[in-house]
Amino acid sequence: MNIKDLVRTIPDYPKAGIQFRDITTLLEHPTGFRRTVDELVQPFAGSGISLIAGIEARGFILGGAVAHQLSIGFVAVRKKGKLPWQTISVEYELEYGTDEVEIHIDSIEKGDKVLIVDDLIATGGTAAAAVQLVRDAGGEVVGASFVIDLPDLGGRRRLEAMNVPVLTLMSFEGD
Ligand code: AMP
Repeated sequence: MNIKDLVRTIPDYPKAGIQFRDITTLLEHPTGFRRTVDELVQPFAGSGISLIAGIEARGFILGGAVAHQLSIGFVAVRKKGKLPWQTISVEYELEYGTDEVEIHIDSIEKGDKVLIVDDLIATGGTAAAAVQLVRDAGGEVVGASFVIDLPDLGGRRRLEAMNVPVLTLMSFEGD
């Protein structure tokens, strides 16, 4: 079984020209989900990670499973306005306009070793904002793990330029 075969591609979603890489079909597959989580964890087992930061929304599913597997805690990186307690936030550029991600002000302690998890890295804008958030909170970003890389959009290079090691399990050419 190749986990890449379990990712569904939906052309022209959510708008014309975008090939949406849908991981719901991978998550629905019992051994596919397990294999994915195992592969996301494996390079980091024993490297002293103390916290997973999962990016809304699919990063919650994957990051939660990774945190469980490593027996460590999970921090939700959420879109602006969703978290109930005091937050710190970072704004980032979109193709049109800006967006903002937040974490709870007390969710990361100084010196925490944090692994960022999401389903896919495209331009890297969202993940770069998450890296900034973790660093602003005093945490150390040990790495960033994604199921899917869209290499043509340059996200991996962008994170590596911030000194963040990047793990991806598969890649799709194009955007
Ligand atoms: P970016 O900030 O450009 O790296 O975009 C990454 C975020 O957008 C991730 O949370 C992805 O879930 C989502 N995303 C971007 N492009 C795609 C795509 N082609 N298929 C599925 N999700 C995408």
